[in-house]
Amino acid sequence: MRQHALSYDIVIAGMGCAGLSLAMRLIHAHFLSSFSILLIDVAPKQENDRTWCFWEDQPGWFEPIVYHRWTKAQLHTEQHILHMQLQPFAYKMIRGIDFYRYAHEQLQQARNNNPDRRIDYLYEPVLQMEREEQYAIVHTTQHRVQAKYVFYSLLSSIPPASYRYFLWQHFRGWFVHMHASVFDPECMVLMDFRVPQQEATAFMYVLPFSDCDALIEYTVFSPHLLDAQVYDACIRNYLQTHYPGLTYDITEIEKGAIPMTDYAFPTATGTLIPIGTAGGQTKASTGYTFSFIQRHSDALIKAWEKTGKPLVKSTLHERAFRWYDQLLLHVLQHRLYPGDALFLQLFQNNSTPTVLRFLSNQSSWAEDIRIIASLPTKPFLKALLSIR
Ligand SMILES: Cc1cc2nc3c(=O)[nH]c(=O)nc-3n(C[C@H](O)[C@H](O)[C@H](O)COP(=O)(O)OP(=O)(O)OC[C@H]3O[C@@H](n4cnc5c(N)ncnc54)[C@H](O)[C@@H]3O)c2cc1C
Repeated sequence: MRQHALSYDIVIAGMGCAGLSLAMRLIHAHFLSSFSILLIDVAPKQENDRTWCFWEDQPGWFEPIVYHRWTKAQLHTEQHILHMQLQPFAYKMIRGIDFYRYAHEQLQQARNNNPDRRIDYLYEPVLQMEREEQYAIVHTTQHRVQAKYVFYSLLSSIPPASYRYFLWQHFRGWFVHMHASVFDPECMVLMDFRVPQQEATAFMYVLPFSDCDALIEYTVFSPHLLDAQVYDACIRNYLQTHYPGLTYDITEIEKGAIPMTDYAFPTATGTLIPIGTAGGQTKASTGYTFSFIQRHSDALIKAWEKTGKPLVKSTLHERAFRWYDQLLLHVLQHRLYPGDALFLQLFQNNSTPTVLRFLSNQSSWAEDIRIIASLPTKPFLKALLSIR
């Protein structure tokens, strides 16, 4: 089929979290105000296909659309309950549909403010991307687009199932409306391990939005996904056990799977720049991605302004975090220590803000050492010897 030729300064391939987060920065960067932008995706997003939770200690780019925030959290095991104060952080939730709409409104506003600037959309599948000497080329079903830079979040490669460190963080959640006041909307349950742990590390994640409404999500770290009925049975059982005799409606369902791996996703090659999960922004040991995408987007713009190129080099400390992730993944994947006991110890032996900083790759070296020293020595030593 004949492809129509297009040319832009910047192409963003994939209008999900990373693509739109970067687009928001691009339209606010004065030094790029003359750059034309083309955003490509398969189709416009019309549904709330996911919710993002993350923690922040100050307002971020998406503050106006934060759906709910929590200042307290709990962690449960069969024997313990840990109450945590999150300050100075707040745990925040953004609904996917609000995020997509908000980003598109901002893009529309940027077009209105500067009608001469081309900010366009193309809804066609990307078939191939390639690098030429000075440009990158994106082939869609009907177009060949040339750009100075292509930022892409299309997950073209995930590691094979046999890859050394690879687990899925897979989950299915019910948005429930209980017919009684049972939740504390200020307190979320980060991990409730009072679910069977024999097959894999698994927990319930409970995010209350009001005293009657919550997202109750069954989450598992394992190499294989489960049938929908298995997650549903666990949630039903959990509700029966912890809210006996109460009736409820299920108003919405969320499901997903996030890769937890130290796999080396493609790195930037001159004009072709991976972002989001495809660019390695998912934290291997936790699956959290949203905050990493935000920081990576900021770093790309900062580097671009400073060096003339949107290329970010990883620091020594970032490489150290990658190594900590490998250790933790090794312990979880080989079940060298029970996941529930491990996360309990992590939060029990350290202050909550320090753990949150550590899990966001933002702790100091001294904090890293204190945290690592607070974890069980034997399994981590074993992991250390195995991954050398
Ligand atoms: C249900 C769910 C809940 C999650 N919750 C959290 C959370 O609470 N906190 C957190 O930190 N992380 C969470 N994550 C992980 C991560 O934040 C998300 O996966 C996030 O959306 C990743 O952003 P991304 O831009 O890399 O990928 P995506 O948001 O998936 O964007 C990729 C885009 O590329 C498009 N695309 C794909 N192939 C093509 C093609 N061939 N041509 C054109 N376009 C294409 C897709 O349509 C999509 O719009 C969650 C993931 C899921 C699936």
